[in-house]
Amino acid sequence: MTTVGNLRPTKAIIDRQAIYDNVQQEIKRLDKGTELWAVVKANAYGHGLIQVAKTAKAAGATGFCVAILDEAMSLREAHLVEPILVLGIIAPQTAPIAAANNIAVPVGSLEWLQRTEPILERQAHQLPPLRIQFALDTGMGRIGFRTTDEIKAAADFVAAHPEYFSLEGVWTHFATADEADTTYFNQQVAAFKELLAALPEQPRYVHVSNSATSLWHQACNGNVIRFGVAMYGLNPSGGALEPPYPLEPALSLVSQLVFVKQVHAGDHIGYGATYEADDDQWIGTVPIGYADGWLRRLQGFYVLVDGQKCPIVGRICMDQLMVRLPKEYVPGTDVVLVGKSGSQTLSLQDVADYSHTIHYEIACDLQERVPRHYVGPSFD
Ligand SMILES: *Cc1c(COP(=O)(O)O)cnc(C)c1O
Repeated sequence: MTTVGNLRPTKAIIDRQAIYDNVQQEIKRLDKGTELWAVVKANAYGHGLIQVAKTAKAAGATGFCVAILDEAMSLREAHLVEPILVLGIIAPQTAPIAAANNIAVPVGSLEWLQRTEPILERQAHQLPPLRIQFALDTGMGRIGFRTTDEIKAAADFVAAHPEYFSLEGVWTHFATADEADTTYFNQQVAAFKELLAALPEQPRYVHVSNSATSLWHQACNGNVIRFGVAMYGLNPSGGALEPPYPLEPALSLVSQLVFVKQVHAGDHIGYGATYEADDDQWIGTVPIGYADGWLRRLQGFYVLVDGQKCPIVGRICMDQLMVRLPKEYVPGTDVVLVGKSGSQTLSLQDVADYSHTIHYEIACDLQERVPRHYVGPSFD
């Protein structure tokens, strides 16, 4: 177990109201009969699995998606009884755990069914049928059936083993739903329709939409959406496409100056002595570093202090970084790494742009050492 840094001023502040509002805004746009399942994989994109799940549920989410079986088990241990779909292929040996806990898993090959069937058979007298959802690979190239023949064979196998498998859903995932050019997206939609037609009957859940699909291709939705990044108030397209309603970012990252000093022309800062002051400067030290998920590639980026942008100078260390202050500030002064300070806003998108990645990655990278503090209504 990783140590959580509760005795250090660095923390992520999660606004439950923002998550609640984002979920409600989306539900308002859905067709009647279409459910929102909250995607809470990877510790809810760094925002905290259980708190986010409970907030999303209070706002109207009727199910959850996670990446791995352990995350699904954590939801069950927190007494969340809604439908759960694991999005990644699970090991056949773990299928009895999924069955016993009413957790649905994806199937993308006949071979997986054939390997899993004898494992379920051994424990059949004590297990309900395993809930499965067929994953169709329509162009994402990750998991799923790719041909109508494969789907038919798998559907036959399931039909022949109703005591072990219950086919409750079918779904696909788009590779380019967050882009303005819809050519590839439309090819995937066509492929989905063709593959879907290979099933003798449509199961209970038919779904294709991540956040981007639901925001910009609502007509495709089916009867469930898998609502992820937009729930956290982040635009899945970066800034390329405008969302249909304003998304409220839920996460801020804050710390404090723990050490402040004046340096003089010619003095150096940090490993490799890569930064050299060219005049008298105030330098502050902030207790966050790459071991917290504030990566070395953020060297040269900035933080906010007292509503002002302060550049990160020198290399980011494992646990600390140094910033250039416009004037002397006392230790204990607030530092904002993501969020608002005075009239300035520094977003996860800004951080992602600077480090040539996507906001998803920055949020997920925040380590357990950074405690999550929750504000806004509690739904415990
Ligand atoms: C992560 C994931 C989602 C959610 O995607 P967002 O872009 O965060 O909305 C939906 N479906 C699948 C299969 C995923 O892996």
